[in-house]
Amino acid sequence: VQSRRTVAKYGLYQGTADVESTRRLTLMSDLRRAIEQDELLLYCQPKVSIASREVCGAEALVRWRHPQHGMVATGEFIALAERAGLIMPLTRWVLETAFRQSHTWYEQGVRCPLSVNLSAQDLRDPRLIDRIVGLFATWAMPPELVQFELTESALMEDPAGALDTMARLKALGVELFVDDFGTGYSSLSYLQKLPVDALKIDQSFVMSMLTNPGSAIIVRSTVDLGHNLGLGVVAEGVESEGLWEGLRALGCDTAQGHFVGMPIPADQFIEWEAHSPWRLRPAAGDTTPAI
Ligand code: C2E
Ligand code: MG
Ligand code: MG
Ligand code: MG
Repeated sequence: VQSRRTVAKYGLYQGTADVESTRRLTLMSDLRRAIEQDELLLYCQPKVSIASREVCGAEALVRWRHPQHGMVATGEFIALAERAGLIMPLTRWVLETAFRQSHTWYEQGVRCPLSVNLSAQDLRDPRLIDRIVGLFATWAMPPELVQFELTESALMEDPAGALDTMARLKALGVELFVDDFGTGYSSLSYLQKLPVDALKIDQSFVMSMLTNPGSAIIVRSTVDLGHNLGLGVVAEGVESEGLWEGLRALGCDTAQGHFVGMPIPADQFIEWEAHSPWRLRPAAGDTTPAI
């Protein structure tokens, strides 16, 4: 009886799994085509300095508008790309598009660093650094205008390898962020060795910090930890003015989230800024000629 029940139960789940895996397989082959045929979109979301209320950067977030299914959730297709071995071509598309966008801003006199998310697989790609060096050369971009975000869990898949790749990235003069900090089991001794500039507190802690005392303690401790290590601290998931004020009281440096600005198509960013309550950090004092 026990085994028959198990079979029946398994059969039920199997049915659901089949529908899901069919969708996944279709999406995987469609994604391959989407990358090749340039069907992806580059969105970006502002980061604002809490003390000065200046836009101090933007995060590049990839979007995919499927011809039949419409917008596919980014988390879903990034996970698919990871399983289908499509992360490297996807990252190449994001990097090329982000550098082109960054160069356009640079030519317009806008000095807004754009951060690109890297996956665990990117950190193992032996050609990653050369590709980035090549893009800096092609677009003649100062290194401080491109940044990279690496999730704490991606770093922990291969801590030694990640450290090595980060050291090479850092040697190019770019800024590095630990993304989704607080969700990835890194040790404090490892964190201390990482050549990073800032921690991004995972949005799950930020969004619940006004209602969950445990989250509030985690956010406060992370701000202090970051500052004591000489790092900047960015809060993601800042959805309300209350969160903004709470983070300001804790001395958090930078806010990102729906209260500050939604992700929007990257080419609309400057227009968005003009109508937003925030101001781009002036390029004054920057005498580097655009060559
Ligand atoms: P992430 O790097 O932690 O990016 C922040 C995510 O939080 C984004 O989701 C953003 O749209 C969302 N978000 C921002 N503010 C708020 C808010 O106030 N409330 C809520 N609820 N959400 C907010 P998105 O764009 O769907 O991306 C999900 C994840 O997919 C990213 O998390 C990142 O890990 C990954 N991802 C996005 N673009 C890329 C990419 O170009 N390459 C790689 N490798 N991963 C990417
Ligand atoms: Mg990120
Ligand atoms: Mg994050
Ligand atoms: Mg996240």
